Amino acid sequence: MADNSKEKDSVENITCYVALGSNLGDSQTYLNNAIDALKSSLLIKQLEVSPFYKSKPHGPQDQPDYLNAVVRFMTTYQSESLLDFLQNIENNNLRVRKGVVRWGARTLDLDLLFFGEETINTKRLTVPHPRICERAFVLLPLRDLQADLDIDLELVLKKSTSSTIESCIDALPESALKDISLCL
Ligand code: ATP
Ligand code: MG
Ligand code: MG
Repeated sequence: MADNSKEKDSVENITCYVALGSNLGDSQTYLNNAIDALKSSLLIKQLEVSPFYKSKPHGPQDQPDYLNAVVRFMTTYQSESLLDFLQNIENNNLRVRKGVVRWGARTLDLDLLFFGEETINTKRLTVPHPRICERAFVLLPLRDLQADLDIDLELVLKKSTSSTIESCIDALPESALKDISLCL
């Protein structure tokens, strides 16, 4: 009998979460462009979008406020190919990489938060994204999409317990929640 296990693997659908952020130019349009581009991929389906949030910048403070959201979708992309796709979408939306300060202003940032339950540590990819638990602009939209998502802190923070989104939000400093608001 023919061995088609590889073929089966290559069409496996993985549930992904991606964080979207923008604080340069028409941020609403950049986020919507990214959502449209993701939706238009034949390798992506069942895409859900969280509400949008406005948040104060992390990192350098001399930059505009951010517009943030999180999307969840099913995909048959391999993880690095998905990163390529995300970076292409960033590039198509005027993201500048060279010669810019870390966490400086940008038209569009797309970060892969979770790729199924996979742990990835390559030169190009760290998944789950290592800064999820310190970012209200990720945790709040993530909770809107999937409140009962268990975050495995062992993977994210190298601690030895699992946790929930709610406990990560509870552990944020009070100021973090003052710096973010829901866009109505
Ligand atoms: P942060 O990751 O802290 O939000 P950033 O989004 O500003 O920072 P970028 O400049 O967008 O960082 O990306 C720098 C590099 O991070 C990319 O070239 C990419 O290879 C790498 N990277 C590692 N893990 C991830 C991930 N989970 N999602 C997106 N990029 C990642
Ligand atoms: Mg980022
Ligand atoms: Mg990024």
